[in-house]
Parts: sequence; structure tokens; C-alpha cells
Amino acid sequence: MILILLGPPGAGKGSQAKLIVDEFKVNHISTGDIFRKNIKEETDLGLKVKDIIAKGELVSDELTNELVFETLSKENTPAGFMLDGYPRNINQAKALDKWLEENNKEVTEVILVDADVNVLIERISGRRVCKNCGATYHVKNLPPKVEGICDVCGNELVQRPDDNEETARDRIEVYNEQTSPLIDYYEKSGRLARFDGNEDIDVVYEHVRNSLK
Ligand code: ADP
Ligand code: ADP
Ligand code: ZN
Repeated sequence: MILILLGPPGAGKGSQAKLIVDEFKVNHISTGDIFRKNIKEETDLGLKVKDIIAKGELVSDELTNELVFETLSKENTPAGFMLDGYPRNINQAKALDKWLEENNKEVTEVILVDADVNVLIERISGRRVCKNCGATYHVKNLPPKVEGICDVCGNELVQRPDDNEETARDRIEVYNEQTSPLIDYYEKSGRLARFDGNEDIDVVYEHVRNSLK
């Protein structure tokens, strides 16, 4: 199974990804997570992308495609993989299609999760992530048992530098301009499934899992 998660920042892609991985055992490949790991470890790549990501802009296609294809070339999870946050523009989508064709692979389903803009802003502003294990919480919708502490590993919860309201609005604009044309792109090839991300996490997931069975 090869899945692509598509949708604006804050729609709940990462939250759905976790549930999909638990049930379907695919490997979760999130370009945002890979970039953040590189920033944390201060690698060459991390240093190159740090300021771009903090501003809510897109990393160059060249760097991103290279990173993704390198990751995919090592990928051998039996159940397949799921791309989250990639592709993010038509150029990346075409590069991915080319890579898949060359490697005799096909996208099984593109999962589009969308939500209203006020919902996105509220979710992004309230998102907290564990510094250590990456578990995601929300101050109102999904609070940890103890404020500021990860339920899973007991480490500190932090806010991503790009999760403030101003940068969130910029990221949503980037999505509308550059990423949303992918909806048409994948719809035309009959690979798109749409889900209403305004609903509760479990409700959204129920629809997603049914579409994958
Ligand atoms: P994305 O990966 O699309 O940016 P996340 O899955 O990280 O989004 O979700 C953004 C924030 O909203 C997180 O704090 C998450 O806990 C919360 N969240 C995600 N999906 C829902 C939902 N369906 N209802 C309420 N809150 C949600
Ligand atoms: P969200 O799901 O909240 O939008 P991500 O974790 O997917 O956030 O991405 C965070 C940031 O990482 C993006 O704003 C962008 O700067 C960078 N990024 C992630 N994926 C890509 C990509 N495919 N192309 C270019 N930049 C990317
Ligand atoms: Zn943790």
C-alpha cells in the first residue's frame, strides 16, 4: 500500500497518520518530521532549512525531492509506506510520479483531510509536541494528563516555532497557492479520497479506515 496524506497545516494529517500506522503497519514518512529532526541534530540539511521552515515557506524542491527519494530507496516495509507533507506542489508531484513509475510502484490512495480555516488556526496555535518522542497534543482538544508533560515518555511538551498564529496564516496561504492544486491533479487520476477534518479524530479515522479496507 502506498498512501499520500494531503491537506492544509493543522487539518489533522499527523494525527490520522498515527492511527493508520497502528492499524495498517505502513511506514510513516513525514518530510516535516525529517526536517525537524535534522534541525534538532544541527546537520547540514538542518542548517539549510531552519530559517525557511521558521518563516512557513517551502523548502526547495531540489532539496526535498532528494531527501524523499533517498528515503524511499531504502524503504522496505512489507506493508508499504505513507507520505505525509509530500508532495506539496505540482513539481514535487510530477517528480514523485516519475520516481514511482521508474520503480514500478503505484499510489494506492491519496487521503485528503481538510478543515475550515478558523479550525486550522485554532488547532495549530494549540498544538504541543513532545521534545523527545514527538507525540502530539492539543491544549484543549487533546490535553496531556499533566500540563506540559508527555503522557507517553514524561518529557517536556513544546510549541513548534512555526505554530504561532501569524506563521500559521502564512502556511495556510502557501498551501492554498501551491499545494491545493494537487487536489485536482490526483482527482483527475482517480486516486483521491476526501475526508472532513472538522470532525473528531476518531470519526475522521473511521471514514479513512473504511476507505482503505
Ligand atoms: P497536521 O499534521 O495536519 O498539521 P496534526 O495532526 O498535527 O495536523 O493536528 C494539529 C493539531 O490539532 C494537534 O494539536 C492535534 O492534536 C489536533 N487535532 C488533529 N485532528 C483533530 C481533530 N479531528 N479534532 C480536534 N483536534 C484535532
Ligand atoms: P504541517 O503539517 O503543520 O503543515 P509539516 O510538518 O508538514 O507541517 O511541515 C513543516 C514545514 O516543513 C513546512 O512549512 C515547510 O517549510 C517544510 N516542508 C515540509 N514538507 C515539505 C515539502 N514537501 N516541500 C517543501 N517544504 C516542506
Ligand atoms: Zn514523549
